[in-house]
Amino acid sequence: MKCPICGNEHTGKLSKSRYFCSDCFIEIFYSKSRELKILKILEDGTAFPVSMIEK
Ligand SMILES: [Zn+2]
Repeated sequence: MKCPICGNEHTGKLSKSRYFCSDCFIEIFYSKSRELKILKILEDGTAFPVSMIEK
């Protein structure tokens, strides 16, 4: 999985369909509707959804 934000190709795999970019501190996964979702992970461990950045 390539990070959709920074293009980092070395994202970590959290589970079968969840990935983590250590450069952006985001979690990337596909929803049930196969929509790409991004969660920003904050320093305190909370996560909030990030809208996919349009080209
Ligand atoms: Zn990234």
